[in-house]
Amino acid sequence: MPELPDIELYLASLERRVLGVPLDRLRLTSSFLLRTVDPAPAELAGRKVVSLARIGKRIVIGFEGELFAALLLMIAGIGNAYSDEILHRARLSPLQLTRNLSGEEATHLHAATRSVLCEWRDRLIAETGDGWPEKVTALRDGMAVHGRFRQPCPDCGAPVQRIVRAENECNYCARCQTGGRVLADRALSRLLGRDWPQSLDES
Ligand SMILES: [Zn+2]
Repeated sequence: MPELPDIELYLASLERRVLGVPLDRLRLTSSFLLRTVDPAPAELAGRKVVSLARIGKRIVIGFEGELFAALLLMIAGIGNAYSDEILHRARLSPLQLTRNLSGEEATHLHAATRSVLCEWRDRLIAETGDGWPEKVTALRDGMAVHGRFRQPCPDCGAPVQRIVRAENECNYCARCQTGGRVLADRALSRLLGRDWPQSLDES
């Protein structure tokens, strides 16, 4: 599932290409994409695109005659890239429970969420320019911690840590986010047993 900056990127790229242009025809590559039969998809053919909007994670294309096509982008492989970046900017541990957040921490989290998502939205749109976003990837140059295991944190220089769960990897900076405490990584702690480092100084 793509996240907000990626959806906004598609929206901006679509806007340049289809706004004011009549739809030639709607071709469905999978029956799973269709959630309604009335009105029939064929009714959209020939109608001009008059609006583009985002509702949650859906892209909504508005056509003449008040008909709308809502697309839910399903792209595998991304999930926690921006959340890693948001928590790093908010200086919060990836294991921090939202119900235990102090008022100040909640304020930092809200501000970090807005700034990280807006910065990445603007950056992706600027980088893509007039091109089409060919691939959505969770690994992007310029991220502070996500996908940067063992590389130096851009803010403090400490090596970026990770927690591996199933196919997901969460990255964080122990110095910036957990007071120097290295959080248990099941894959590594099982391998190292008692030698598992508990703090940055031991790692
Ligand atoms: Zn750091």
